[in-house]
Amino acid sequence: MQSLQELYKIGNGPSSSHTMGPKRATELFKNQYPNADKFKIVLYGSLALTGKGHLTDYIIKKTLEGYEVEIEFDLKTECNIHPNTFDISAYSQEKLLDTWRIYSVGGGTFKIEGSKETIFKDIYPQKNFQEIKEFIKEKEIDLYEYVCQQEGNEITTFLNEVWKTMQNAIKNGLTTTGIIPGKLKLPRKAKKIYENQLKFETPDIKKTRLLSSYAYATSEENASGGVIVTAPTCGACGILPAVLYYMKEEYHVTDEEIVKALAVAGIIGNVVKTNASISGAECGCQAEVGTACSMAAGACAYLLKLDIERIENSAEVAMEHHLGLTCDPIYGYVQIPCIERNAVAAMRAFDAASLSLMLEKRKKISFDLVVETMYETGKDLGKHYRETSEGGLAKKYCRNKYFNKEMKE
Ligand code: SF4
Repeated sequence: MQSLQELYKIGNGPSSSHTMGPKRATELFKNQYPNADKFKIVLYGSLALTGKGHLTDYIIKKTLEGYEVEIEFDLKTECNIHPNTFDISAYSQEKLLDTWRIYSVGGGTFKIEGSKETIFKDIYPQKNFQEIKEFIKEKEIDLYEYVCQQEGNEITTFLNEVWKTMQNAIKNGLTTTGIIPGKLKLPRKAKKIYENQLKFETPDIKKTRLLSSYAYATSEENASGGVIVTAPTCGACGILPAVLYYMKEEYHVTDEEIVKALAVAGIIGNVVKTNASISGAECGCQAEVGTACSMAAGACAYLLKLDIERIENSAEVAMEHHLGLTCDPIYGYVQIPCIERNAVAAMRAFDAASLSLMLEKRKKISFDLVVETMYETGKDLGKHYRETSEGGLAKKYCRNKYFNKEMKE
């Protein structure tokens, strides 16, 4: 498993696999060919189908500002290795210098086809949750101490920065109104939901409103191109911060404890990233929102001072009830169903942690088993349900009466 610095990435939305990953890969390639005068990019699979809505072409052009850039959306070629594939070529005076095939594998991480060099090194020797659990029990340490042991104490400085950025995104989202960019013309709702909770005395309704408003705030920032943290992706970036902020505001948990909980959530996300996928294009929304919900549930359980078994239970319950969740963003924007889905998953994460308190400690389904199941389910999902905007809500919506009206605008 790689460093948590490869999981939590601070950057601009709206998509980690469609904007952050291509941006990072393009930057690396550009720096290899300082004498190039032209770059050609061919986008395939999900990048070609939803790249416009996810701003893939925009971010590549921005990264290559000052150069001649040609971008092709290839809607026909099948992607056999990964659905988020693109080729980038450098030219000098019309002579081809080199071409890389890139796989944007989710959460802003990418792989270069045929590259022997490991760009992002593995630093955790343990491969799954069971191995980690055995290790920390033997050493009598908790998950946060385990992260510090493997990564060094500097990881705490990084996680503090992550938490600061998450809080800023929530605060900005709660105070900003207006329309989210894109032809759906969605109004921002976070502020309204937050203000609405002030009218309710009932703790349950207040909890629902608060968690939702925090999740909306971050997700709306993401959809508007604001600065957020991938947790584990941009599309699912609202869930973990919402639960942590709620714990801070309502349970008066300290920032120091929250930073430790971020390490716990990071390990859960890393287990999924290493053994399955966090890419909606590869395994559907269960891989993005399902993983984020597990991370948030595990972090919440840690903050409720539950032990490692119950942390695992919380993460497992959260993932189990997202199995099969499809990815079908309307017009390819990370807006519908994404924003609302973050709010629902934030509530579900909190409930999963609460539920784990009442469950038997030793469960029949382990976290590793549900992760394996999620991966297999994702591979079995029809490709229309994996970030193509050609299935589900995206398809149905575009056929209804609003479609023609919006397309004309
Ligand atoms: S539906 Fe889920 S996986 Fe797909 S773009 Fe939205 S948040 Fe990401």
